[in-house]
Amino acid sequence: MPRYSIRISKLWPVILITVFLLLAAGCNDGSITPGPTGQESGQNGYHQSAVVQNPGDASPGRLKVHFLDVGQADSILVQLPNEQNMLIDAGDNNDGDTVVDYLAKAGIKRIDYLVGTHPHADHIGGMDTVIKHFTIGEVFMPRVTSTTRTYEDVLTAIKEKKLKITTAKAGLKIVDDGSLQVVMLSPHGTEYADMNNYSAVVKVTLGEVSFLCMGDAEEQAEMEILASSLSPQADVLKVGHHGSHSSTSEAFLQAVQPQYAVICAGVGNDYGHPHKETLTRLQGVQIFRTDLDGTVVFATDGQEINVTTGKRNIDSSVSPGEAGLDNGQKDGGANGQNNEQVYVDDNGRGLIKGNINSRGEKIYHMPGGANYDNTKPEQWFKTEAEAVAAGFRPVKG
Ligand SMILES: [Zn+2]
Repeated sequence: MPRYSIRISKLWPVILITVFLLLAAGCNDGSITPGPTGQESGQNGYHQSAVVQNPGDASPGRLKVHFLDVGQADSILVQLPNEQNMLIDAGDNNDGDTVVDYLAKAGIKRIDYLVGTHPHADHIGGMDTVIKHFTIGEVFMPRVTSTTRTYEDVLTAIKEKKLKITTAKAGLKIVDDGSLQVVMLSPHGTEYADMNNYSAVVKVTLGEVSFLCMGDAEEQAEMEILASSLSPQADVLKVGHHGSHSSTSEAFLQAVQPQYAVICAGVGNDYGHPHKETLTRLQGVQIFRTDLDGTVVFATDGQEINVTTGKRNIDSSVSPGEAGLDNGQKDGGANGQNNEQVYVDDNGRGLIKGNINSRGEKIYHMPGGANYDNTKPEQWFKTEAEAVAAGFRPVKG
């Protein structure tokens, strides 16, 4: 089962010395978190991340932040170390059951803090389903209404459970408990031309590690945060608005200084998210994308950060240290005969998958190929020549 797991530490010098000492003592501390072995890979595929497999390991003292793969939508589960749970957004209208399933498998029964960042369907669409299924503590939403059926469904669900909405706004302290802080950094204003700028921006801090979840906040909201006394600095940035170029401005990024960025976007979405400009601005930041990585889970004790993704495509044929990549390149690239054969579906859409793997290598996969089904396409091609022209090489084997 493809799994990608790394751990970093804010205490590198100490860790390095410790690891050295441990190694010298013959003890294997291991910087890679072992995933649960022997788990079934068949059902539900990538949604069964380590945490879901081990619901009990929401251990006290650790903070877990799950960026759920709900396609072109947002849903973030935050398991606080005080055993409270927060859900920021609940996916689109047809994602409600996916979110409910994921939370249930993680052993969640109560959502202490439910945040609807803003009334767009790709954020609150599944929220009515979530409200019906779980015990809900407080509901936070910005003071802006919408006339959509989606929004009305959420209001109805809130009313039926006799819940009240707390207005989401900058400066709101949701949890204020020593080293554990959950604070809202936005919205500052009460009237925005663009609904996205009403987004509730949530910062969760445990010890020295912070997560900043931007909803769909755009540059205007970012500037307001920068002008405020609230620090946006964070180790993990949930990039605003699915990686659109209208968010994640250079100035804001300078202030956040993230080590990791998470982009919630759907495969082949109509908006072209994430936009190139955003990815360029994020150079030097390690990026996780739900369209490529599936559900991304961070865990921290306030010092170290551990990341697990559901399905980063570590293609066995391009595994580290493998020889023969060059051969593959030559074979495919120069294969003039089959290069022009067209692979399209009934609608004329290309069927060749262009994938950028974890090491940034551009590889294309042919229909029927060994890893074709597991491959997340970043681009689709109709012919091999088209793929090669775009800088992709054929997968070996
Ligand atoms: Zn959105």
